[in-house]
Amino acid sequence: MREAARPSLAGLTTLRIGGNAIAELLLEDTDDFEKLPERLRAIGGAPVVLGAGSNILAQDGELPIVLVRPCFLQQLEILREINGKVFVRAGAAVSMSRLLRFCMKNGLSGLEGLVGIPGSVGGSVAMNAGSFGTEICANIERIKILSNNSVKEILAENILYGYRSLRVSKENLDFIVLEATFSLTNASIDGIRKHMCHNFFEKKSKQPVTAWSAGCVFKNPLPEMPAGKLLDLAGFRGKKMGGMAFSPLHANFLINEGNGCATAALDLMHEAREAVRRRFGFVLETEVRVVPCLSQ
Ligand SMILES: Cc1cc2nc3c(=O)[nH]c(=O)nc-3n(C[C@H](O)[C@H](O)[C@H](O)COP(=O)(O)OP(=O)(O)OC[C@H]3O[C@@H](n4cnc5c(N)ncnc54)[C@H](O)[C@@H]3O)c2cc1C
Repeated sequence: MREAARPSLAGLTTLRIGGNAIAELLLEDTDDFEKLPERLRAIGGAPVVLGAGSNILAQDGELPIVLVRPCFLQQLEILREINGKVFVRAGAAVSMSRLLRFCMKNGLSGLEGLVGIPGSVGGSVAMNAGSFGTEICANIERIKILSNNSVKEILAENILYGYRSLRVSKENLDFIVLEATFSLTNASIDGIRKHMCHNFFEKKSKQPVTAWSAGCVFKNPLPEMPAGKLLDLAGFRGKKMGGMAFSPLHANFLINEGNGCATAALDLMHEAREAVRRRFGFVLETEVRVVPCLSQ
């Protein structure tokens, strides 16, 4: 296990804001699973599993957290094919873009809707990332997790997932996703490529995909009532505060204009949430993970 002191969250997240954690623990092999609880106890601070950092709003200052990064889990392979289903295993640290390229190259269909999501497999499974009507967890056959100091496999039927959330037990135990096995189907490479390209250009035309952001900051209160539309109607499209702004292209994307900070981001989000509540009666729930978490 490699350790680093005071890693900067601004340097590890796509929103590029946030202060320093106490430490960062980079897991290098499976032996580190056993060593982890002892190191966390010795260091103190709340553990936060970090993937690609594309859905995290880290608070400013010295943060009482320890980052845990299962970076070595990079395997990506076709396991077997049974009755028209092809099972693909991906480690938590595999990027979603690598997984989707692999699927396209091998003519494997199921995940095309997830193109353009800049996360890792582990973070995307933990968030049940989704777009264009595809949720990642709906395509899972099983996952491997580390929880309560042991490695466990959980079959799809026992995974409790919802809109941008995943639980692995009714007790809501903490866990690290180590790998996911996806159940996919064979399809033409050309068809998959066209589908992915279409989705990607659709995204690019409606979202500020190259800006410093963490994607959508609020969940949609109802499928037919997107948070972006409510924010737009409440006058928050393009609204700025302290170096942060709601994107003029997509009102639910909070952007760091270069000199933003978490205090400004959270203040702007609070103002927006209050305006939407007063005007439309919807209480917007945060989709981005605030680290350390806030009580809403
Ligand atoms: C431009 C842009 C576009 C986006 N578009 C979409 C979209 O279309 N749909 C969508 O759903 N999201 C979207 N997102 C948000 C984000 O990319 C996804 O939520 C992504 O799945 C997060 O993965 P990550 O590896 O970056 O996770 P992180 O941001 O690193 O972590 C997110 C959460 O998952 C936890 N976590 C991370 N790794 C693990 C693990 N191995 N085990 C357990 N918990 C873990 C973290 O503790 C944290 O709570 C977008 C973001 C950006 C910047």
